[in-house]
Amino acid sequence: MIVSGPAFIWRRSASQSAVRSFDEAFALVRSDLSLQAESNPVFAAHLEMLDDPMLRDAVQEGLQSGLSPSDALDAARDGIVAMFEGIDDEYLRARADDVRDIFGRLRAAMAGESSGGQVQMPGGCILVAEELLPSDTALIDFKALGGILCHKGSSTSHVCIIARAKGVPIQVGADISGIKDGDTVQVDDPLSGSLQSIASRARASGLKVYVNAANLDEIRSGLAAGAEGVGIFRTEFLFLNRSSMPSREEHAAIYREALLACAGSPLTLRTMDIGGDKDLPYLPLTAEDNPFLGLRGIRFSMLHQDVFIPQLQGALDAAGSVRELHPEWFEEGSPLHLIIPMVSKAEEILQVRALLSSLDPDYGRLLELGIMIETPAAVLDAPALAAESDFFSVGTNDLTQYIMAADRGNASVGYLYDSFAPPVRRALELTVRAAHDATIPVGICGEMASDPRATGILIDLGFDSLSLSRLEPIQ
Ligand code: PEP
Ligand code: MG
Repeated sequence: MIVSGPAFIWRRSASQSAVRSFDEAFALVRSDLSLQAESNPVFAAHLEMLDDPMLRDAVQEGLQSGLSPSDALDAARDGIVAMFEGIDDEYLRARADDVRDIFGRLRAAMAGESSGGQVQMPGGCILVAEELLPSDTALIDFKALGGILCHKGSSTSHVCIIARAKGVPIQVGADISGIKDGDTVQVDDPLSGSLQSIASRARASGLKVYVNAANLDEIRSGLAAGAEGVGIFRTEFLFLNRSSMPSREEHAAIYREALLACAGSPLTLRTMDIGGDKDLPYLPLTAEDNPFLGLRGIRFSMLHQDVFIPQLQGALDAAGSVRELHPEWFEEGSPLHLIIPMVSKAEEILQVRALLSSLDPDYGRLLELGIMIETPAAVLDAPALAAESDFFSVGTNDLTQYIMAADRGNASVGYLYDSFAPPVRRALELTVRAAHDATIPVGICGEMASDPRATGILIDLGFDSLSLSRLEPIQ
């Protein structure tokens, strides 16, 4: 699909502005939270807390007593946090973290930072950028965009995945030199607009068609457009762009909503894939020479169990509460399919199983446990990994970069980064064979599943499901 429109040049500094008063910062944070609350119950709860007159009164009191705006904010925060921490109820005590998060946003907004506020862009424009980072995507108003033209990155970089999920055509590796604001530019995205036809071909060959999602809205719209479940629910949105880590209750609330939206169809919930190009403001990572070969996915999770365990507990809580409501959804196995990213050894699966059984010895009634196949080690040892897994899903975005030793975000080695290359094809064959020998299902959730040129190949290879980056509503 080719689209054109006026260029809007992306400047990261566009998200910065002058220092704001408390009232201005309050209004900005309120409007950000109202937007986010539509798709995320956690932010809906934050909005309620922000609107509680107690919060404003506490800050005003500090200002009136002569404190500087920043000290008034800290004093109000400390007072309210102390109040929550003194409550004799575990759930309410945990709300102190939410209070810190809200005050963190207010402080950032007063300092002139965006606090997640979106950059204003003219409707129908083509966003032109040298490079877009995962954290930039929170600042982009995708609804306003006609398309994205980006110099750095590949078709599986995270910004591409997010843009496609929002239905925005994107072209990477583009020559953007000399483009000025307002110039008419074109975006050529071969993957955009073909997903329903991939879905029909896959279904006609007996494959299940799932959708990829990175928030609740994408789950709902994918299911409404005919997906038979969610093939990967990327949960990083819960961890990024905030100042404190999500609690067990926050995880549980989101996963419960997601399971209810799926109404008994599979929800493949990927545990946090932090590291690589995604890090956390509240848990600064040590710089690594090779972050994509370093602490990411399950490696990061096992090292930072204080962040990982609340996610596992939240998943178990959500499945437990949905099971009480709808035992019939669990009769042929749980619809909650937990999937671990970046696995390279069978021991890693056993470690997650051990963690799960320490939280609930009978966790098997609440979830199936599978792994992403995205490292060469996982492919070469697939029979051993299949013996410990309930299912496989192939992440061709990473698998291609690791097999070809070509960074998925580096346009200079884009000629090597090719999911159709024979070594990647061989890896797919080995994976499908190992899964089927062990009688477990194997799907594909990388962007290759959404490429119309791959559909015939993936059907012939014997995959059981395709998870598409998005499904357009059937007209
Ligand atoms: C993949 O690697 O193919 C995948 C689905 O995961 P992500 O793109 O989030 O790394
Ligand atoms: Mg991956």
